[in-house]
Amino acid sequence: MTDIPSVSQALVADDDPTLRLLLSQALGNWGYSVLEASDGQQAVDMAIAHQPAIVFMDLLMPVLDGYAACQAIRRSPEAAHIPIIVVTGREDIEAIEAAFQAGATDFTTKPINWPLLRHRLQFVLRASHAFREVKASEQRYALAARGANDGLWDWDLLHNRIYFAPRWKQMLGHAEDAVGEDPSEWFKRVHPDDLPRLSNTLDEHLSGRSDHFENEHRMLAADGSYRWMLCRGLAIRDDLNTAMRIAGSQSDITLRKQAESQLAHDAYHDTLTQLPNRLLFHDRLQHAIRAAQRRPNFRFAVLFMDIDRFKVINDSLGHPIGDRVILEVAARVGSCIRDNDTLSRLGGDEFTVLIEDIADKEFVTDLVERIQTVVGRPFQVDGHELRPSLSIGVTLSHERYENADEMLRDADTAMYCAKKTGKGQFALFDAEMHMQALQSLMLESEIRSALSSGQFILRFQPIVAMSSGRTVGLEALLRWQHPRRGELLPEAFLSSAEETGLIVPLGRWVLRETCRHLIDWERSAPLPADWFVSVNCSVREFHHPNFAADVEKILEEHGLAPSRLRIEITEQVINHNRQSAEAVLKDLHRLGIRVGIDDFGSTASTLSSLENLPIDFLKIDRSFMHNVDGENRMELIKAVVTLVHKLNMFVVGEGSETVAEVERLSQLACEFGQGNYFQKPVLAHEVVPMLLKGSLPGGYQP
Ligand code: C2E
Ligand code: CA
Ligand code: CA
Repeated sequence: MTDIPSVSQALVADDDPTLRLLLSQALGNWGYSVLEASDGQQAVDMAIAHQPAIVFMDLLMPVLDGYAACQAIRRSPEAAHIPIIVVTGREDIEAIEAAFQAGATDFTTKPINWPLLRHRLQFVLRASHAFREVKASEQRYALAARGANDGLWDWDLLHNRIYFAPRWKQMLGHAEDAVGEDPSEWFKRVHPDDLPRLSNTLDEHLSGRSDHFENEHRMLAADGSYRWMLCRGLAIRDDLNTAMRIAGSQSDITLRKQAESQLAHDAYHDTLTQLPNRLLFHDRLQHAIRAAQRRPNFRFAVLFMDIDRFKVINDSLGHPIGDRVILEVAARVGSCIRDNDTLSRLGGDEFTVLIEDIADKEFVTDLVERIQTVVGRPFQVDGHELRPSLSIGVTLSHERYENADEMLRDADTAMYCAKKTGKGQFALFDAEMHMQALQSLMLESEIRSALSSGQFILRFQPIVAMSSGRTVGLEALLRWQHPRRGELLPEAFLSSAEETGLIVPLGRWVLRETCRHLIDWERSAPLPADWFVSVNCSVREFHHPNFAADVEKILEEHGLAPSRLRIEITEQVINHNRQSAEAVLKDLHRLGIRVGIDDFGSTASTLSSLENLPIDFLKIDRSFMHNVDGENRMELIKAVVTLVHKLNMFVVGEGSETVAEVERLSQLACEFGQGNYFQKPVLAHEVVPMLLKGSLPGGYQP
């Protein structure tokens, strides 16, 4: 045995002087100089002060016992790396286990078998030397302390025998005598998937191509489970640089691996459904796009899905039920697709599916129809029967797609188109949608610059009292003086402004502009005290934080009375979020600003939802008023008007174009009317002359 690393000092810690003497003599014979300690504390102090190559530690000692001494040595930066051989009275399994936990490297039992001890000593020194070299080469000295608790091994390459330390065997749940010395004892326990890489890294080091050996692999334990091990070693070479032996350590990193894989899983999966999340989906889609660039025959599709009316389910039945709907829909969609397709939850009620390797478009449309059928089957949750439905947008792979975002965006656009046509529909992204998407992008930036360069103006349409025929106020209507396209009506740009949120600054502008004109008019003509301008307000404006406070501020800035301004909202504003709408309505009411419901009767309107809200008037939509065919319809509208009056609101009839239509307003007991018959919307400078002329708009005679 010529390959002992050059060492000189050994520390013997034992309170029994006889054993100290015996050990010291033996160590002296083997070429060591020996330090002696008679208790644990002394041992710790000497280990730190002298940093011997090896420590022999008795377990039962005064002042500080062997376990505590091991721990103290492992905690000290100076001595943490020193191998410790524990000397125990008998082969007490529990004592040995506790010693390993405290940081012991190996153990031997009394009475001492001297030849065996010499063998062990050399093994421990070699392995721990190798171990330390590796650590040092990695500059991860701090880990050395924990490393001492690792299982050491020493492989004699000439005789092809491996000595496995008891700790090595114990880590895998094996008794001392259950593992032999053949290298196969190691390799037969390596997980088959990990074996090729292990052999590779080992070969690399043995042939001298790497400066140390290090590999992570799974090892089969006695209980049949696999544990992750980090294995490191260092070869000892002869003069010709041929590896003679290799020694090293094995540490159990199963917990770390589990934590790592949990973290990796969490980063890429949705917590509720455990489905891949946006990040992972994005990644897979990007892969598919690249695959299609390499293989022109490879075609795939992206489905973008959104649960119809999910918000209603969530708001009315509560989040726990909302979650169960999400889970159920996810499971149902999952049952329709193949194993290698990717279903992911993007967030909220949005899901996406990546379908790879499709033959043709029909394959996808068939699949989409199947998904809609399966998802639409009724299911019970907490006594409610629900029939979920999905709006689905589909994009097919195409060479114009270079990244995942573009494809997802188009699938999303198609989903929106599907949603517009109703519940449970699907739409395939096509060139026209592409054009529209482009146009709406362009429109957005155009609206932005129109706002800053003053291309928006307001027109005003009189609101007339049916009893007197007098103009009682105006409604402000937005127009865009487009440099190329002329004066644009709201229908040309409003939905885009709403989708992009530009409606918020635009709406604030309308309020300011209205106030500015009101002041102008007040200066040039005596306006009756109760005269007002009605301003339209959309969902996003109304629910934007501080809406009421902003209105108050704008009125204050202009020194206008709150009664000068009225706000028109649609029922949508209330349905969007009743609680928040109610709060804003109350604030406005407190400020003295009157609020009315616009377009009543143009959708499935419900008077009951307006009860108990501070709403002052109702505007009955043109379509509801004038699609009158027969007496029944008249009776219905009459009943509605009566109900509205009972709720203490007054009624404005909208969009009257003819004498007959105006007469009908009176018959129906509407207090006010508005429409092109009275007056088309006019420009701001036309308002005062119109008022001064005094003649009743449209020549209406009550
Ligand atoms: P609305 O609030 O229902 O406004 C009445 C609409 O009916 C106006 O269309 C008006 O020009 C039109 N109208 C008036 N009399 C007649 C008539 O006799 N016959 C017919 N067929 N139509 C008549 P306009 O100006 O195109 O506005 C359309 C919608 O755009 C408005 O409907 C309103 O919802 C919205 N809007 C207009 N200005 C604004 C605004 O400043 N902010 C917001 N958020 N929305 C606005
Ligand atoms: Ca209106
Ligand atoms: Ca209206």
